[in-house]
Amino acid sequence: MSKRKYYEEFGFQTRAVHVGNDVDGETGAIRRPITMANSYELPEDPTDMNWSSAGGKPLYTRNGGANQNYLQEKLKSLEGGEDCVVLASGVAALSGIFFALLKSGDHVVFSNITYVAVYRLLNELLPGKYGIETTIVDTSNIDAVRAAIKPNTKLIHIETPGNPTTQISDIAAIAQLAHENGVLLSVDNTFASPYTQRPIELGADLTVESLTKYINGHGDAMGGAVIGAKSLIDRIRTDSMVNLGGAISPFNAWLIMRGAVTLPLRMREHNNNALAVARYLESQKGVRFVSYPGLEKHKGHEIAKRQMINGFGGVLAFGLNADHGTHNRFVAALRVITSAVSLGHDESLIVFLGENDERQYLYPEEFHGGFFRLSVGIEDANDIIEDLKQALKVIGL
Ligand SMILES: *Cc1c(COP(=O)(O)O)cnc(C)c1O
Repeated sequence: MSKRKYYEEFGFQTRAVHVGNDVDGETGAIRRPITMANSYELPEDPTDMNWSSAGGKPLYTRNGGANQNYLQEKLKSLEGGEDCVVLASGVAALSGIFFALLKSGDHVVFSNITYVAVYRLLNELLPGKYGIETTIVDTSNIDAVRAAIKPNTKLIHIETPGNPTTQISDIAAIAQLAHENGVLLSVDNTFASPYTQRPIELGADLTVESLTKYINGHGDAMGGAVIGAKSLIDRIRTDSMVNLGGAISPFNAWLIMRGAVTLPLRMREHNNNALAVARYLESQKGVRFVSYPGLEKHKGHEIAKRQMINGFGGVLAFGLNADHGTHNRFVAALRVITSAVSLGHDESLIVFLGENDERQYLYPEEFHGGFFRLSVGIEDANDIIEDLKQALKVIGL
C-alpha cells in the first residue's frame, strides 16, 4: 500500500525526506525514476480529455509529468498549501501569478524591495503593454499599504525578507488587510524557504518560491513554484505552463526534488551561519552597516521574530566604509566566498550592488553608497568569518 496518505501527520523533516517519493511500481526501486518522455500514453478513448489544461494523468510534459507531479506533492506539503505548480524558474512562477490572475484595468500594489524581475514586470511590462495599473509601496509600513488599495486592486505582492536589502513586511497584517478589501496576497518566500517561514499559514493566498535557491540548494538547477488554493493554482498552471510554455524539465524537477530532501538540515546551517557572520560584521569598525533580520537593530526584527521560525534566513546585506574600487578589491581578496549572483547555494556567494542601481531611490539611505548582498553558505562559520577578516585586512579596514 502507498505510504503517502499518512504523511500529513509527520514533522517537517520527515516530510522533506518522504513526500513525493514512493516505491516505483515497475522496478521496485525505492527511488522514483527520472521520466524524460515528452508524451504519455492516451486512454483508449481520448475524446473526453481536456487538451489545454493540466493536472490528473500526464499527457504531455508541457501539461505536467511524473517528476513535476512528485515535486509538487513535496512542496505543497512543506508550504502547507492545497495545491502547487512547478515551473521553469522563479521568474516563470512570478510572471505566472501576474499573467494568470490579472487583466487590463486591474491594479496591483507591490513591495518597494523585490527581486528585479518583479520590478520589470510590474513597473514596466504589465503597465506598458497590458494596461495593468501598479503602485510601488514600502510594504514594511502597513498604513502605506492600506492607503494604496483602490477599488480595482486585485493583488498585493510582497517579498519578505526582500531582495536585496532584507526588508521585512508583516505577512499576517497585510493578509488581513488584503482580505478585508477582497484582494489576494502573494508572498515571495525565496529568502526564507518553507523551513524558515510559511506564508500560507500566516494567511497569504499564494506563496512563490525560486526553487533555484534554497529548495534545490546546490546551485545546479533552475525552477520556480507557486503554492496555494487549487482554484488559483489551476489557473496559473493552465495559463503559464500549458499556454505560455513555462514548463520545468523533468531532470531539473528531479534534481530539485533530491535537493529538497536536505532543506531543513541545510537551512539550519544557513540560518546559524548568517547570524554568526552578521554579528561579526556588526562588530567591525570598517563596516558601514549590516542589514540582517536576526539582528536586534534591524527595523523589522520584531515582526521577523513573530513570522519567521527556526532562524532568519541565510542572506544579509552590508556596506564598507570604503569607495567603489575598494569594495571591488575586497571581493577580489576573498578566498572562500565566491563572487557570483544567485543565493541559497551550499557555498557562500557575494555580489556587489553598486551605486548605479536604478532602483537605489527605493532603498534606505544607508544602501546608497553601494553594498554587498552576501548569501551565507553551509561551510564552517569560522572559515567564512576568517575569510571576511583577512579580506578586510587586505583593503586596510
Ligand atoms: C532569484 C529570485 C527570484 C527569481 O528566481 P529565478 O529562479 O532566478 O527565476 C525571485 N525572487 C527572489 C526573491 C529571488 O531571489
